[in-house]
Amino acid sequence: MNFKVPKGTQDILPGQSEKWQYVERVIRDLCDKYRYNEIRTPMFEATELFQRGVGDTTDIVQKEMYTFTDKGDRSLTLRPEGTASAVRAYVEHKMFGQVDQPVKLYYTGPMFRYERQQAGRYRQFVQFGVEAIGSADPAIDAEVMALAMDVYTTLGLKDLKLVINSLGDKDTRDAHRSALIAHFTPVIGELCSDCQSRLEKNPLRILDCKVDAKHPAMATAPSLTNYLTDSSAEYFTKVKQYLDVLGISYEVDPNLVRGLDYYNHTAFEIMITGEGFGSITTLCGGGRYNGLVEDIGGPESPGIGFALSIERLLLALEAKNIELPTENDLEMYVVAMGEEAKLKAVELVSSFRAKGISADMDYLDRKMKAQMKAADRAKAKFVIVLGETEIEEQVVNVKTMATGDQTKVEFGQLVQYVLENK
Ligand code: ATP
Ligand code: MG
Repeated sequence: MNFKVPKGTQDILPGQSEKWQYVERVIRDLCDKYRYNEIRTPMFEATELFQRGVGDTTDIVQKEMYTFTDKGDRSLTLRPEGTASAVRAYVEHKMFGQVDQPVKLYYTGPMFRYERQQAGRYRQFVQFGVEAIGSADPAIDAEVMALAMDVYTTLGLKDLKLVINSLGDKDTRDAHRSALIAHFTPVIGELCSDCQSRLEKNPLRILDCKVDAKHPAMATAPSLTNYLTDSSAEYFTKVKQYLDVLGISYEVDPNLVRGLDYYNHTAFEIMITGEGFGSITTLCGGGRYNGLVEDIGGPESPGIGFALSIERLLLALEAKNIELPTENDLEMYVVAMGEEAKLKAVELVSSFRAKGISADMDYLDRKMKAQMKAADRAKAKFVIVLGETEIEEQVVNVKTMATGDQTKVEFGQLVQYVLENK
């Protein structure tokens, strides 16, 4: 037998997992500052939730879902994204009735999509996302974008570009839709079969097609921007004003349409500039989804959110040679020589840990030299060596590894000494 991780998934081993923990801590701290609260939803949901909430014409629903029938004959799907679940929970728990509005949520956790594996594209990946539901204030669009940018800049990433666009409101989309159908109908035979079925269902998605990106009709397609209603244009202007006030620079890209069906008004992506990784440049995507809550059975509640994957975030940091600090160096290593010393070592290690001092010892009955090497590899701050004499006298030399300094300390005072000097 020769088992391997399933295609498109990865093991995150010690050495790497510290980076994940660091990033997750930064994310939680930022969410605290911006007052977004964590929501945890199940990793699978009724398939229909995603068909409705993500949209039947999207790549996610058409090609990428892990759908299965359970023993009770229900069709369930491993969540491919987080918004549909957050909105489902928002409706189910009547969060629209809470006093504090908008409801500001965040989540982190694995998402599943059956995709072709490549650098930055996995079948199981961890998304961090936020949803602000219950406000149609352009200031919150800016806040959500600021939070997304803050994640990257706090971690030291600089080569970023925020790209924004407005998809307008329903009238905008209807007018644009008719124009797109008129534009693409004469050449539809030259486009891929996906685009042919998109023409009637959701022609906007033709603009997002990766197969036909270079077809001449793409470049001349009617731009959504020309169909913005007055109120949509005004909304977009305000979003930009708030970004200006926040000192966040951005680029407007009229061709940014995003993959999900439910977006309107603000759509945005954060890209890595310069040398990235593989063919991927998008780190984060988000947008406004007024109407989604109603589609999922709730009252009218406008929302906006984004999602980014930790995998792409870490790849971006690596591409830019940014090292994350790891903070798990050991505080105390107890070397023990002989049976009796080992009994004492077990007792001492436990008493260090009880006082919040990280402590470890040897469990392979190794020679003193090998134990010292283990302490070195663990980057122990202090080391004590217990032998017959120490046990007899109940006193031990505490060695500070960085300086080589040694201090005699009574067993009874050890914890106190480390606490005062660590
Ligand atoms: P793409 O165009 O790269 O397929 P998408 O539009 O499918 O992206 P979203 O559904 O908007 O992506 O997801 C938001 C973010 O989640 C992306 O910007 C990216 O950081 C991350 N992401 C999406 N799919 C994957 C994946 N298969 N592996 C790792 N990260 C992913
Ligand atoms: Mg995708």
